[in-house]
Formats: sequence, C-alpha cells, structure tokens
Amino acid sequence: MNAELAALDGPRPDRRDPEIRHFWDGLTERELRAQVCADCQGVQWPPRAACVKCQSLQLTWHVIAGSGTLSTWTEVHRTGLAGYQDLVPYAVGIVEIDETPVRMVGYIHTPDIDTLVAGERLVVRFAERGEGVVLPVWHRESEGA
Ligand SMILES: [Zn+2]
Repeated sequence: MNAELAALDGPRPDRRDPEIRHFWDGLTERELRAQVCADCQGVQWPPRAACVKCQSLQLTWHVIAGSGTLSTWTEVHRTGLAGYQDLVPYAVGIVEIDETPVRMVGYIHTPDIDTLVAGERLVVRFAERGEGVVLPVWHRESEGA
C-alpha cells in the first residue's frame, strides 16, 4: 500500500516540536489526532499553543474520525518539494473531518484525479514512510478503502 510514499526521500517531520509532536505520534499509532480545549471543548487543527475560541491553554489531544468529505482539491503537476517530483501529477485536498469542525489538508490517493467530486466520502489510511514516519493518505471510500 502506498509504496510510492514509502519510497519518498522528502523532508521528515520535526517530532521535537511540542505543538505537533502528538499528531505525529498519533500517526505512528494509526490514529488521527487533533487538539481539544478542556474549557470550551472546541476542536482545533492545526495545533496551537492556545485555544482559538477562548484562548485557554488547557489543550489536550484526542483521536478524531478517520473519515470525512472532500471539500476542494488541486492537482499538482510541478513541485519543488524534495522527494515528491516522482509522484506528479497528484491531488492535494481539503478534507472536512467527520464529528468535528476540523479541516485537514492532505494527499488524496486516487488513480483518476479527473473524477474527484466535491462532497465525496474519503477515509484515511496510513502509509509507512520508513524510519518511524507514518503519513495520512486520503482514499476514496468508493474505491474500497
Ligand atoms: Zn477553548
């Protein structure tokens, strides 16, 4: 699965960054995680030092749904991102995660980018990239993900 991602020689996440380390740790456990505010219960992504709704510093990490709907996307034909040149063309989209108001930008794995449709169902899978790095990859639910 996702052999093309496993072979990437691109940048590696900085797991020392305390604001995003829990996200990367979650991926290693095959979980999508986002911050939840202990004071207002707001869910937020990307992670921040404080809650964007109430400015509380009482943020914890929770597992969020690994499914959602495709909001919009772009087809990448040229990239300066190291290691990704061999993947073009590929799709990068915004996924509206179920159960939360969270939107995530992600790699959309499909052999037929031209048939993507706004609002279609996506599910996440996890692609080993080697050296303990796992990436979320969104697949079309209709393709048996
Ligand atoms: Zn809050």
